[in-house]
Order: sequence, then structure tokens, then C-alpha cells
Amino acid sequence: MRVRRLLHRLARLCAVTAAGSAVAALAAACTPHDSGKITIGVKFDQPGLSVKRPDGTLGGFDVDVARYVAGRLGYPAERIAWLEAPSGQREMLLRNGQVDYVVATYSITDSRLEKVDFAGPYLLAGQSLLVRADNTDITGTASLQRHKKLCSVSGSTPAQRIKDRYPGVQLQRYDTYSACVEALRNGAIDAVTTDDVILAGYAAQSPGAFKLVGERFSQEEYGIGVRKGNDGLRHRINDAIEQMERDGSWRAAFVDNFGAAGFAVPDPPPVAR
Ligand code: GLU
Repeated sequence: MRVRRLLHRLARLCAVTAAGSAVAALAAACTPHDSGKITIGVKFDQPGLSVKRPDGTLGGFDVDVARYVAGRLGYPAERIAWLEAPSGQREMLLRNGQVDYVVATYSITDSRLEKVDFAGPYLLAGQSLLVRADNTDITGTASLQRHKKLCSVSGSTPAQRIKDRYPGVQLQRYDTYSACVEALRNGAIDAVTTDDVILAGYAAQSPGAFKLVGERFSQEEYGIGVRKGNDGLRHRINDAIEQMERDGSWRAAFVDNFGAAGFAVPDPPPVAR
């Protein structure tokens, strides 16, 4: 009983820590294993990749990868706890120990590697643009310089890239891509930018409403984020990714989740050990 009370208090403290600034010692105690579950950070609003449906179930390529990895780590579906991991919160969730790993369209970058580590990569994507289907004047990044309103998400690599390389663009940063897509639908903004696989998921969900334009203008390698220095977990996740690719599950997940978006099945990228 005392243990349960302690865990309860710890859980509350963890929530407070997450909301405010992290206290390292406390954060270290906030491992989700106390409940016998593994906690995975995913997006809740990215169709094709990771979406929480009205009935509360989750589906998408990232979710399939996350579940497969959990299974290899010894956690069947009923012992997985899912936590929403918006772009701007992924490093914090890992550093606070609120999630064991993050599978959330999470690009491996040098600046993120200063704070977290990555298994993978398990998928390649590239930055692109989504506009309304009837738009004719946005055809690529160059057309954005003409006072176009572009939406992306705080803490994401696409938003950072626009800021660094296209300073003339009016960039608006929202918390989620689904919020950007709603703003695109109702005319508040002119285009949304992020990875092509994400944009294709929104386009497939609303047939006839949107289209992708231009070429991919970055290379995004999706990794599975783990806490910095947790090499044991990182190696086991790498093993799981390779197993998923070998046994056909990776390909099946790709076809299941991106079939509607019309992507040809690529070769999976080699895992970087
Ligand atoms: N892959 C990019 C990133 O990690 C964009 C997608 C996202 O924000 O989740 O920032």
C-alpha cells in the first residue's frame, strides 16, 4: 500500500516536472516501468503515420513500428501505454523519462543528438509543400517568397529549415500539423510544409481538397528516439527494426498505411549502428 502511494505521488511529481522545468534527479525516477508497461511517444494526428481514432485506438506506420519493437522488447500490445509526443516536446519527454522511446516522424539531426539518441533510421522522407487543390500559384519553395503564408510546427526540422533558408516567407508555427491543415482548408494560410509522407496522409484523408507540389527539398531520416546514453535500449531497438525489415512486417506495414497515398514501397534504409 505504501509503495502504491509512493508511486502515485511520484507519478504526480513527474507530471509537474514535465509541465515545468526538469529536475534531473526526480526526472531519473520518472521511469514508466513501475506499472509493468512500456510507454511510447507517438503523434495522435498524422493519418497514415500515427493517428488516434475516435474509438481511442491508434493506427499508422509509426504505430506499427512502435508496436513491433515493443513486442520484441517483451511488451505485448496490452502492456503499451501511448503518450502524445508533439514535435516540440519529443526531447523533453525523453529527457524527463516520461516515455521509453519516441516513434513520431522524428528526424535524426545533429542538434537533437546533443540531447537524445536515436535507433534506426527506419524510414526516409523529405520536406514538401501541401496546398489547396485549386491553387495554381504555389509550385515550389521559390513561389513562397511572394508574401505567402506558410504553416509548419514548432520544434520541427521543416520549420527550422524555412526560417534558415527562406527568410522572406511568412512562417506561422502551430503546435500540430493537423491544426495547419485546418487553417489551410479554411483559407487562413496558403500552404503547409513538412515531410511528404505526412502531407500525403492528410491529402489522402480529404480526397480532392489538397495536393502536394514541388520536389522534396530535404532528406529526413526517421529514427526512434531514446534517452541519451541508453545504448542497451538503442541496440535492442535496432535489432527489432532489422528483424521487422527481414520478416516482411516492415513492407506489410508500408503497404497497409501508405497504399492510399500512392507511394511505391521503397527499400528500408540501413540501420546505423
Ligand atoms: N521529420 C520532421 C521532424 O522531425 C518533421 C515531422 C515532425 O515534426 O514530426 O521535425
